[in-house]
Amino acid sequence: MYDVIIIGSGPAGFTAAIYTSRAELKTLIIAGSMWGGQLMLTTEVENFPGFNDGVLGPDLMDRMWKQAERFGAEIIFEDATDVDFSSKPFKVSIKNKEYVGKSVIVATGSSPKWLGLESEERFRGKGVSVCATCDAAFFKDKRTVVVGGGDTAMEEAMVLTKFADKVIIVHRRDKLRASKILQERTFKNPKIEFLWNSTVQEILGKVKVEGIRLKKTDSDDEYEIKCDGVFIAIGHKPNTEIFKGQIKLDRLGYIIAEDVTKTSVEGIFVAGDAQDYRYRQAVMAAGAGCKAAIDAEKFLQEGKG
Ligand code: NAP
Repeated sequence: MYDVIIIGSGPAGFTAAIYTSRAELKTLIIAGSMWGGQLMLTTEVENFPGFNDGVLGPDLMDRMWKQAERFGAEIIFEDATDVDFSSKPFKVSIKNKEYVGKSVIVATGSSPKWLGLESEERFRGKGVSVCATCDAAFFKDKRTVVVGGGDTAMEEAMVLTKFADKVIIVHRRDKLRASKILQERTFKNPKIEFLWNSTVQEILGKVKVEGIRLKKTDSDDEYEIKCDGVFIAIGHKPNTEIFKGQIKLDRLGYIIAEDVTKTSVEGIFVAGDAQDYRYRQAVMAAGAGCKAAIDAEKFLQEGKG
């Protein structure tokens, strides 16, 4: 029987684990087979406080893991396949093996959607990114492309304009999905241009991104443009499949937090991008992990576990 089972091992999960294990709560982290979350997909992280020379995403996650282990957190590198939050103690399964806990912190994060191109995978970290806040600074005075027509794409484009010389938004339709206010801001920005009714067919380059090949959606025409970076902003998918029917999710599948980290089931807490679609920053997730750990500790102290 664990005091706390943490599902997920991004900054939210590991920070929660550092706090709970340091508070001498018996902690299990179910880290997932692809442990470490989205920072494992990035290279240099320059905006995580405390690393004035920057830190590689995977190195940062490695440090968080070691820090959690230092205080005694146990860790399993497999995916949670099922949960039962209908009665206490709560149950979390990995295939046929069941783990029981007095409380659970869900920190499964979200996954960026990708276009699914082979070239997109090849150039990841070499000009292809899913986070302008993380990577825009690498594109000073460069020409960048943002793919997508929603709020995220507009925000990514705005962030990029602080550094890039030109930002070209590629959208598959002739109308944006983004909110009016964000649309207006992007239309007004002189650095932003639009390519309508177009989809990216291939990302071009030798070692790093040099351009993209596009196809019109209203004709068979194909064309190429030059660019140094491609930001994919076609949405995120919260990793919350296994929680359906167990805790309340919103219509997009994000976990609803009713009181900061408390979910619809008492004793089940949430931290990070599985709940937060707005900020999606490692430091925010880490902060949320801390909050969830403190809330779980209080819940256990009150004898509710
Ligand atoms: P989204 O609203 O689902 O928009 C995704 C965009 O990507 C759409 O324009 C979509 O095109 C396009 N797209 C999807 N799959 C594609 C593909 N395979 N190829 C090319 N284009 C593709 O996602 P989001 O922008 O990440 O926003 C998610 C939620 O978070 C929304 O509710 C949004 O309002 C919210 N959000 C809010 C803020 C804010 O309030 N400041 C900031 C960010 C996000 P179509 O339009 O043709 O479907």
